[in-house]
Amino acid sequence: MKMICINCPKGCELDVSRGADGAVVVTGHSCPRGETYGRSELVNPTRMVTGLVRVAGMRKPLPVKTRTPVPKGKIPDVLFALHQTTVQLPVKIGDVIIPGVAGTDVDIVATANM
Ligand code: SF4
Repeated sequence: MKMICINCPKGCELDVSRGADGAVVVTGHSCPRGETYGRSELVNPTRMVTGLVRVAGMRKPLPVKTRTPVPKGKIPDVLFALHQTTVQLPVKIGDVIIPGVAGTDVDIVATANM
């Protein structure tokens, strides 16, 4: 599997595959971060999720994000949870809005003060 490492602007072209013994083999990286990224993309790809949640009594929504990346397969469930959520003010940056979103151990946190 070919992919571009997105960890820095250099954008190394990675080739990620499984060897005969099933072990993940990464080539094309210029530093250890690229190898880690390529390995995780093959075994358990994850992404940060950003979005908006409703604020009670206001038209302006609150911007939020996952504190850490979540498995790609969980993204629809995360977005559904955001859609179902309404927060009460006040909220500070970093406040936990949804603990353990969508059955993960990842919190949704506020990215703005309101
Ligand atoms: S492998 Fe290392 S140097 Fe290359 S893009 Fe990824 S982080 Fe940057």
